[in-house]
Amino acid sequence: MHFLAERMNHIDASGIRKIFALAAKIKNPINLSIGQPDYDVDTEVKEVAIQSIRSGFNSYTQTWGIEELRDGVGAYYHEKFGVVPSNVMITSGVSGGLYLSLLATVNPGDEVLFADPYFVMYPHLVRLLGGTPVPINTYPQDGTSVKDAFKLRPEAIEAAITKNSKILIVNAPSNPTGVTLNHEELKAIAAVAKKHNLLVITDEIYESLQYDESPSTMVGMYDNVILLNGFSKNVGMTGWRVGYAAGPDAIIQAMNTLQQYTFVCAPSFAQKAAVIALKADMREKLDNYRRKRDLAYDMLRSFTEVTKPGGAFYIFPKAPGNDGDTFVPRAIENKVLIIPGSVFSNHKTHMRISFAAPDDTIRAGIEVLQRLADST
Ligand code: PMP
Repeated sequence: MHFLAERMNHIDASGIRKIFALAAKIKNPINLSIGQPDYDVDTEVKEVAIQSIRSGFNSYTQTWGIEELRDGVGAYYHEKFGVVPSNVMITSGVSGGLYLSLLATVNPGDEVLFADPYFVMYPHLVRLLGGTPVPINTYPQDGTSVKDAFKLRPEAIEAAITKNSKILIVNAPSNPTGVTLNHEELKAIAAVAKKHNLLVITDEIYESLQYDESPSTMVGMYDNVILLNGFSKNVGMTGWRVGYAAGPDAIIQAMNTLQQYTFVCAPSFAQKAAVIALKADMREKLDNYRRKRDLAYDMLRSFTEVTKPGGAFYIFPKAPGNDGDTFVPRAIENKVLIIPGSVFSNHKTHMRISFAAPDDTIRAGIEVLQRLADST
């Protein structure tokens, strides 16, 4: 199709599309593939959105978002972490923030480093912009125990650095592994970034979903940090498209210029609702997800190698037979929807299971996986 731009040759979604095509044929699936909370948006938050629409708050907002929300984000980080992010702008989800931040900073040939396994958008967006994705292997290897697997380590970052390295994306807690990094681990990463003058993009979208250690942030650890966070995973506003970015003046200004010519602004009523969502009480949600995490982990470890996730709602075990690309289609044929690790990685040994599902669904799904494992 000669109308398509050359850049479309550098991205593709065939891996995940194959899985969706398989899944579409399954009636009444046991769905453990979902990347969003299994609870609805709080009533209070919905009411603010509805009232905003009713009262006529339906126009464009400022490109960088409404002041109430920008101030609210500052107050949220200050109260929770004791740091104040600079130059907060509101984006269309964290996806919007990722796109604008990379569009503003990646030149052809620039290397962008991130942990492998990674969130699917990272390599694709980097390639779309002519950059070179540099996935850093974090699988259990000699010297790392399964317990400590999937953590992005300063030594591994150092080993991947070349003269073209420009950006490091950090995602903790991680999609797809759920693995978290504590304050000291993040500080060590910030120190490597500073030493090599890398721009850090910290994707903190799962920051409020941590089950064991107290959450931390990379904001304030180093000057050249762009914070990305949003409202999709904590309060479940995935369809409302609100996130935020903060960081160095020149970069956020450039992102605003790009926003002006692309997204224009995040949805107006959703920004109003997000002001309230910042105050959401996460305690009950956290208790529920901790229980679901424990359930999934305890069941999985009885038959496969698995690292206990400290956050998000994903767990990333080794696929029985060490091949997610053959195991996952078998699971789907048996009605259990999960995602092969190769969608998030250069390796195909693992698989992603989401525990954002009712306990009975988690139990039923993993029982099927165990039965299939026994016959592998
Ligand atoms: N970053 C990560 C790590 C994610 O898992 C997701 C959603 N799956 C996003 C960014 C994008 O989230 P949104 O655009 O809905 O804010």
